[in-house]
Amino acid sequence: MFCADLLACPICNAVLEQDNSSLKCSNAHSFDISSEGYVNLLRKKLPGDAKEMLIARRDFLEQGHYQPLSDLINDLVYTHLPVSSSPPAILDAGCGEGYYIGRLQQSLLAQNHQANYIGLDVSKDAVRMAARRYKQVCFVVANIKERLIFVDEAMQMMLNIFAPRNPAEFARVLAPGALLLIIIPGSDHLLQLRSALHLLNIEEDKEQKVIAQFAPFFDFVTSSSLSYPLQFNHKEIVQAVMMTPNYWHLSPEVHAMVEKMEALETTVSFSGLVFRRRDPLAASV
Ligand SMILES: [Zn+2]
Repeated sequence: MFCADLLACPICNAVLEQDNSSLKCSNAHSFDISSEGYVNLLRKKLPGDAKEMLIARRDFLEQGHYQPLSDLINDLVYTHLPVSSSPPAILDAGCGEGYYIGRLQQSLLAQNHQANYIGLDVSKDAVRMAARRYKQVCFVVANIKERLIFVDEAMQMMLNIFAPRNPAEFARVLAPGALLLIIIPGSDHLLQLRSALHLLNIEEDKEQKVIAQFAPFFDFVTSSSLSYPLQFNHKEIVQAVMMTPNYWHLSPEVHAMVEKMEALETTVSFSGLVFRRRDPLAASV
């Protein structure tokens, strides 16, 4: 069953039901489930991350550089997951090629937790890579910045890891009391790498800004930070730079500097912010 009862039609918002290898709503809108096992609910094709960037990211993550972050995410979910009689629905909004939701599924399964896992990303290439590898997760191509393709209060937990945010829609699709875990870079994330390449700094008060952004709909529960050094070789430096959000806007001079760098030790730093969806939702939007 493909995320039964959670998905809403992107055209008319009616609930989608599985009919063999497609999802259909009561108004006869139909969406095929691909042979890889994902469904594309994007109405307008958008450029997501480029394929070479996705491959670089998967290769970088597979070397375990961000495994401590993945472990932190799994611990936070395990600690804060609401107790319920039925398996909770856990959404990774902005899942990329599926690394974090895939490891979460494996980790919770190892602790005998049953849940329904959903990964959403705007990049069809990313979702295809994710769906091929993580068969226990439902993957959907959709845009975080638009109305989310889920029915109201569908989710008991949501992850948002270095991804765009949509507070009002996150609140709508989360059940009252459900948890939202947002991962943002810490202010000294890749500090030595950014300083060597004269790249932009991360805002000092990013954490406070995110808390303020979610204050209309969510209570802030706790934050957790993680920081450690990594030793990069040339290939890993290139991959780390490719994973930065402004990669396509880097100057030829920066690209030339990256090509010359052979090794670098740099700090990586992350902040995990835990929120609880307020009930009832405040009207003060
Ligand atoms: Zn429809």
